[in-house]
Amino acid sequence: MIRIAIQAKGRLNESSLSLLNSVGMDIDTTKRKYLAKSPDFPLEVLYLRDDDIPQTVSSGAADIGIVGYNEVAERGFAVNVEQELCFGQCRVSLAIPKSETYTGPEYFNGRKIATSYPNILGKWLADNGINSEIHEIAGSVEIAPSIGVADGIFDIVSSGGTLAQNSLQEVETVLESQAVLISNPGISAANRAILEQLKFRFQSIIDAGGKKYLLMNIPTSAVDEAIRIIPAMRSPTVMPLALKGWSSLHSVVSGKDLWDKVDQLKKIGAEGILVLDLEKIIK
Ligand code: ATP
Ligand code: MG
Repeated sequence: MIRIAIQAKGRLNESSLSLLNSVGMDIDTTKRKYLAKSPDFPLEVLYLRDDDIPQTVSSGAADIGIVGYNEVAERGFAVNVEQELCFGQCRVSLAIPKSETYTGPEYFNGRKIATSYPNILGKWLADNGINSEIHEIAGSVEIAPSIGVADGIFDIVSSGGTLAQNSLQEVETVLESQAVLISNPGISAANRAILEQLKFRFQSIIDAGGKKYLLMNIPTSAVDEAIRIIPAMRSPTVMPLALKGWSSLHSVVSGKDLWDKVDQLKKIGAEGILVLDLEKIIK
């Protein structure tokens, strides 16, 4: 039995649970308890505050966990990062009031910076030879400059909307983060085997991320050109239609390229284009 710690509430909770459920864990999310079991896989889910996940995994109270890399870096507990999970993307950045002119890292010399990430910030300041006062606060960091508590902030940024709302400008990105799967360095051999199985299944979801499955009818004479437009993983599937001179072509494209590819395919005569969401890619 492997025990995984995930966030009980908050930004990573839903994506963590849906990742587990999409690889067949079938966790009961309606009757949430402190500890839940998967009915058909040797897995137990422990719901925690994200701050506590690195330590819980490091101590072995949980074998593995899903948490933002920013928390792993800040807490500094010994854990192994097993896999990047491609959700919860954000960065931890320094920001100052929009009205200020940024002159480089030395701008922060002798200034006060509000943050919930004092360790990551302390290291960046030391690496850059800057002397600042770190003002540690647990939340609402972004309002610190406007209420006169600090000159700048060091906080999580994703879209930048919160910074803009508080008249702040991002001046240094110190850490790029996303949700990661972490493990206890002394995990048992039996649980290592379960972990590898989980990682293999997670990878199929990660690889399918944002990809679309395309099916279309196309004049057989245009198939070679279509293959140049949508090369697929190995090669697209081409099948003859009962109608002479026509083929059916199947392929996979990334979501961001979809419309561009569809436009190109239509120009060379593709018809009846079907676009399906891709659930998993098993390599
Ligand atoms: P908890 O109650 O578990 O301590 P929290 O309030 O500390 O939760 P959340 O705001 O739920 O944390 O964020 C969890 C994680 O989501 C962050 O540590 C970060 O890795 C990631 N994240 C992604 N985008 C953002 C964002 N825009 N703001 C905050 N966190 C983000
Ligand atoms: Mg937290």
